[in-house]
Amino acid sequence: ALVIRRHVRATVRWADAYAILSDLEEKCATPIMKLRQVSNAMTVEMHAGLASEGGSKLKMLLSFVDNLPPVVPSWTISRDEEGLYYSLDLAGTNFRVIRVQLGGKEGRVIKKEAKQVSIPPHLIVGTSNDLFEFIAAELANFVASEGEDFHLPVGRQREIGFTFSFPVKEHSFSSGSSIKWTKGFSIIDTGIGVGLDRRQLSQQNGDDITTGRRHCQLRVVGEDVVVELTKAMERKGLEMRVAALVNDTIGTLAGGRYYDPDVVAAVILGNGTNAAYIEQVKAIPKWNGLLPKSGEMVINMEWGSFRSAHLPMTEYDLTLDAESLNPNEQIFEKLISGMYLGEIVRRVLLKMAAEASLFGDTVPPKLEKPFMLSTPDISEMHHDTSSDLRVVGEKLKDVLEITNTCLRERKMVVEVCGIITRRAARLAAAGIVGILKKQGRDASTSDNQRTVVAVDGSLFVHCAIFGKYLEGALREILPHEVFETIVIKLVNDGSGLGAALLAASHSQYIEAKES
Ligand code: BGC
Ligand code: MG
Repeated sequence: ALVIRRHVRATVRWADAYAILSDLEEKCATPIMKLRQVSNAMTVEMHAGLASEGGSKLKMLLSFVDNLPPVVPSWTISRDEEGLYYSLDLAGTNFRVIRVQLGGKEGRVIKKEAKQVSIPPHLIVGTSNDLFEFIAAELANFVASEGEDFHLPVGRQREIGFTFSFPVKEHSFSSGSSIKWTKGFSIIDTGIGVGLDRRQLSQQNGDDITTGRRHCQLRVVGEDVVVELTKAMERKGLEMRVAALVNDTIGTLAGGRYYDPDVVAAVILGNGTNAAYIEQVKAIPKWNGLLPKSGEMVINMEWGSFRSAHLPMTEYDLTLDAESLNPNEQIFEKLISGMYLGEIVRRVLLKMAAEASLFGDTVPPKLEKPFMLSTPDISEMHHDTSSDLRVVGEKLKDVLEITNTCLRERKMVVEVCGIITRRAARLAAAGIVGILKKQGRDASTSDNQRTVVAVDGSLFVHCAIFGKYLEGALREILPHEVFETIVIKLVNDGSGLGAALLAASHSQYIEAKES
C-alpha cells in the first residue's frame, strides 16, 4: 500500500516537555497541608478585614442586608401580598433582566421571565455613561414586553434590584459606589478629564484609581452606580426605582435562601470569583451602625483580592498578573476564575512550544496571543473522553490553528488543563473552608447542623469536573462528620431572583412586618 506521510515536523523534545510539566505539577500542588494553610490564612484575613476598613486585602464589604428571605418573618410581604419586581444583573460581558410576580402569604414566585443581553465589546472598555445608557435602553425594551399575566398593583412604580458583579462600597441598602472594575472591564469616566496624566489623577482620587496597562486607559471609579443607572433610566423615560443594590454573591445568597433556609454562604465561580456569607454583627468591629434585629449582616468578602504566601504561584501566574489590567490585584481570582484559567494554560503551552518544540519547530503564532485560549476551550478539552482525544485535536486546530497534532501532544494538553483546573477548584474549596471556620461550622458539634453553600457561575455550571475537584478537596480538609453536613448547591441564576426578592423586601410600598 502506498503510505502518504503527513507533513513531517521537527520532533518534540519530550524530555524537556515533561520537565516543564512536572515542574508545573510540583508548583501547582495543593496537598492537604497547603490547603489548610490557605484556609487558615483566609480566616485570619476575614477577621482583619472586619476589624477595620483597609485592615486586610480582603475588603469584607458591608452589604446592609440584614434580613434574608424567607426565614426572617419581617420579610413576609405584608400589605398587598403581591407585587411585580424586576432585577438587573450586570455580569461580565452580558447582563440579565428578570421580572417576577410574587404573591401569596410568603410572597412566593408565581411567574418569572428573564432575558439575557450581551454587551457590545466597545462598551466594556468605554465610558460608564455609555454602558448605563445601553443597559437602560435594553431594560426599557424588556419592560415594554411585559405581558398581561404580570400585574403591577395600582398606584405603584416598578421597582428593581440591581445586581452589580463588581466591588461596591455600599452607602446604604440601595446606593453605593464602585471601588474598582475587575475582570477586564476598564471603564473611563467622562466626568473627569482623560487628558490629565496618571499621576495627577491619582493625586485627585487617592487610591481609587487604577491604570489599565494593556489598554493604557484610565479607569476612574467612585461614582454611585445607582445614581448612574437611575439617570440613564430617566433619560429613556423609564420610571423605575432602584430598591436594592447588591453584589452577585449577595443576590445568590438571597436567591439560594429562598429555596433552602440552611444557606449561609454563597460563592460565585464564573468569569470572576467571590463569596458572601452571613456574619454576626457583634463580630464586625468596623460596623458602627445600629444593631439590626436579626443580629446578622451579609458580608461581601471580595475574596478575589485575597492573597497569601501560601498560595501556589507559578512563573505563569506571575507574568499573567504583571501583564494584566490590574497588576498586583485580584490574585486569588487570577488563580481560580474563568477569566484566567484558559490564559494560564496558554502560557504553559507556549513555554512548551518554545522550549520543547511541542507543536513543531516554530511556535504557533496564535499560541502567542494573550487570551486566545478560553476557559470553556480548556474545559472541553479536559472533558474529552474519546480514545484518540479527537475534541482536543479539533480545538487546537480551530482555536489555535495547530494542525496534525499527535496523541502524545494532545495528552500533554489535557494534563496541563487538568493541573490548572484542579488547583483552581481546590483553592476555592480552601476558601470555603475558611468561611466555615469563621462561622464555626468547620468542626463537628453535637447538633451537626446542615450547612449549605449556594454556588453559581459559568465555571461551576459548565465545567463538570470543577465541582468534583472542589468536593474532593472539601472531603480531604474537613472531618468526615462535618463534610457529611456540607452541601454545595448549585443555584442557577440565584442572583437575579435574589435581587428581585431583596427589592421586594425593601420596597417603598411595603412596611416590614415586625416580628
Ligand atoms: C468581582 C466581585 C464579583 C465576582 C463574581 C469579581 O471580579 O470583584 O464583585 O462578585 O467577580 O462575579
Ligand atoms: Mg453572574
